[in-house]
Amino acid sequence: MTKDEKNRIIALSESGKKPVDIATELNLPYNTVKSFLRRSREVEVIEEVKVVEDSRDKTKCLCCGEPLKFVVGKKQKKFCSDKCRLKYWRVHNG
Ligand SMILES: [Zn+2]
Repeated sequence: MTKDEKNRIIALSESGKKPVDIATELNLPYNTVKSFLRRSREVEVIEEVKVVEDSRDKTKCLCCGEPLKFVVGKKQKKFCSDKCRLKYWRVHNG
C-alpha cells in the first residue's frame, strides 16, 4: 500500500464509508483495508485512553463518575462495576 492509499483509506473512513466500500473504491483487497483500519484505530484508542488515564480523577469511575471505594492492598479499580468497565471498553473500541 502506498502512503497515498493509506491517506485515502483514512479520509474515506472518516467520511463514514465502510471498509468494503473503501476497498471497492480504491481497488484494494478488502482484508488489506480492514486490517489497516483496525491497526490505525487501535493506535488512536491507545492514545485516547492514555490521555484519559493521565487527566482523570483516579477516585472516580471512568465510565459513570461514581466515587470508587479504595480497597487496601488491592490495585485501585478504574470502574465502579463490571457493567461500567464493559460499557467503557465497548465505547472506546468502536
Ligand atoms: Zn461506573
